[in-house]
Amino acid sequence: VKREEFIKKQAELKKFIGMETLTADGDKLEVYCNIGTPKDAKKAMECDGEGVGLFRSEFLFMDNTHLPTEEEQFEAYKEALETMEGKTVIIRTLDIGGDKEIPYMGLAKEENPFMGFRAIRYCLKNRDLFKTQLRAILRASAFGDIKIMFPLITCLEELREGKALVEEVKNELRLSSVSEFNENIDVGVMIETASAAVIADVLAPEADFFSIGTNDLTGYTMSCDRGNADVAYLYSVLQPGVLRLIRRTIQCGRENGIPVGMCGEAAANPQLIPLLISFGLTEFSVSAPSVLKVRKCISKWSKTEADKIAEKVMAMKTEEEIAAYLETIV
Ligand code: PEP
Ligand code: MG
Repeated sequence: VKREEFIKKQAELKKFIGMETLTADGDKLEVYCNIGTPKDAKKAMECDGEGVGLFRSEFLFMDNTHLPTEEEQFEAYKEALETMEGKTVIIRTLDIGGDKEIPYMGLAKEENPFMGFRAIRYCLKNRDLFKTQLRAILRASAFGDIKIMFPLITCLEELREGKALVEEVKNELRLSSVSEFNENIDVGVMIETASAAVIADVLAPEADFFSIGTNDLTGYTMSCDRGNADVAYLYSVLQPGVLRLIRRTIQCGRENGIPVGMCGEAAANPQLIPLLISFGLTEFSVSAPSVLKVRKCISKWSKTEADKIAEKVMAMKTEEEIAAYLETIV
């Protein structure tokens, strides 16, 4: 019986291949894919992803014995773009530190690595390495719709400094023999720290897009390490504190006319999807096997129904109450 049910479900999902992602009342949204290597882009296409919402570029560094050169990175980004056949590819700049170690880089051991020298912080202090990556991304941008995204932004200074480096690299490219790149490449911000979500109104006017990283946002907002069994119970995207930050981020993005996506695992959570539709999220970036499930789930909700659920949930005071209620709707 289980096998038959599985086959039936798969057949139902297949109906969504090649379909647009539409809510029940016809609003067009998008389901993108998260990838780690250019090879994963193939899976993203097979699963009918509408783009890549998160290319975790650190895998090019982690699955390696040396720092990937500009040329190696350029080839990897170009390969992902070509495999995606003209669809958008968002490259997240190097996100190391925390749980992501790269042995040959010799990063100092830290007492509190999640609070430490990682991601954009590391890149802004290691400009040669960062500029090499930006140069590779910019050169690849001549071949398709590529966007840059900075991880772990906590304040406007970091975004400004990162963008200034993008401009610096553009200038250097103009003066060099390789002058082909997208002059207007979009630079977006991952909203994955509590501070970024709280100052989303300050960041939005200077960002081209937001993408909410709920994996880290949940941990940082709840001040809890999900790997620690004693506190893992706190790690829930359904905590009112986390939901309010998600709603706020989307609202600030919309008020400033920039698109807001989500590339954390919560984007594939069927209980959260009606809330995200109601808040106005436009792009859901999920693992390849989740694409059709998310497209199907989105198709079930009208804006009016989603709004009703969101209104109820956002008036609730505890995660327990929210989780119990959402159990009843999906
Ligand atoms: C996130 O934090 O939600 C995210 C997508 O980034 P990563 O899981 O790579 O830290
Ligand atoms: Mg993250």
